[in-house]
Amino acid sequence: MPGKWNNSAAGLSRSHVLPASGAETHSPGDFYGLHAPVLVLNASYEPINVCAARRAIILVLKGVAMTEEENGHFLHAARLAMRLPSVIRLLEYRRIPHQTRALSRKNILLRDRNTCQYCGEFMASGELTLDHVVPRSRGGASSWENLVACCHSCNRRKGNQLPIEARMVLRREPRAFNLHTSRHIMRLMGRSDDKWRKYLFY
Ligand SMILES: [Zn+2]
Repeated sequence: MPGKWNNSAAGLSRSHVLPASGAETHSPGDFYGLHAPVLVLNASYEPINVCAARRAIILVLKGVAMTEEENGHFLHAARLAMRLPSVIRLLEYRRIPHQTRALSRKNILLRDRNTCQYCGEFMASGELTLDHVVPRSRGGASSWENLVACCHSCNRRKGNQLPIEARMVLRREPRAFNLHTSRHIMRLMGRSDDKWRKYLFY
């Protein structure tokens, strides 16, 4: 169902009247539409996550969350036009355990800000892989402390070696990704988004 959505009117400002469907063309705004980051607040207004607009819309349509701020772009589907959210809030309070987040590729890339931890290059998620600092073949665990974002060329170069053997240096000591880390990242992301600011800087 969400696959049917398209965002042909992205780029319109809120003051514009909606154009007749089909009158617009797809633009770079498409990226900005469904993939734009949306700040997710708990029912208590506490910021808890960042998700893509597409997921946020599903949460709103399911009645799980409501839109607190809009991003000024529209989503068109059939005869429905919907304003895309910039901030949503869950209608029911969710207890967020103050422990580390789930260990996943997505969260490791988020923690490392899509930056190869050896050469420091920023890349799209699809171009990064995960590197075991201490290789698995040498007893390295799949843990927050032993996994880092890594580009393919650094990964090949390192192979089955320890960083020191490959003469490579980690940019940062890998640590568990806790709520504090995620708040910090939300703040960094929110710096460019005025609408996030009031929820993040309290
Ligand atoms: Zn690299």
